[in-house]
Amino acid sequence: MPTETQNSTPEKKAPQRRCICCRSNGKKHALLRFVVFQNTLCFDLRGKLPGRGFYVCAQGHCLEKAFAGGFKRLVKHEATEIAPNAETFIRDMLIPGLRKRYGECLLAGYQSHQLLLGADSVEKAAQEDRLACYVIATDASESSRQKYQLNAERKGLECCGLCDRAFYGKLFGKSDKVVLGWLPGQLYEEFITLEDSIRKFEETQR
Ligand SMILES: [Zn+2]
Repeated sequence: MPTETQNSTPEKKAPQRRCICCRSNGKKHALLRFVVFQNTLCFDLRGKLPGRGFYVCAQGHCLEKAFAGGFKRLVKHEATEIAPNAETFIRDMLIPGLRKRYGECLLAGYQSHQLLLGADSVEKAAQEDRLACYVIATDASESSRQKYQLNAERKGLECCGLCDRAFYGKLFGKSDKVVLGWLPGQLYEEFITLEDSIRKFEETQR
């Protein structure tokens, strides 16, 4: 019988990739992957497209460099550009793409029992010191927000959340959800990276 301790093998090092612009290494899931697919340079949102990947940091200045000439130098043949510049790419492809991945990541977390839904199961996990982070709906009442933030502080946990109660409920085919909770793991790491990127890029749009 499979048990929850199945993946208790020593933690594998997260795969690293190098940014084509600043040359620094980062965790693969934290970098954006581009790939030449059918003679077109594509943004590979899920990191799954076949072909050689080019990685770029999820940072405005690295994306600017990539679109300003970095890709051209690497992609020798006449692959068409996916966007005329970094700004257009960030607005029209990256932010909507990251938002989509965000939902997929939550769903995968729920399906694999790494994401808990609703106050009861989240609080239980927090009490048992199993929780990695609270996800609080943006339209949670002030009192609920304060309650979870206080609990999080006490336990030294993070609080995040980008969407409203209706979004978090509908995603799982359920009624509105004020709070979700992540258990530690790779999906949680990916989720936090996604949420940070979305926040950062959306801020530059304002
Ligand atoms: Zn970079």
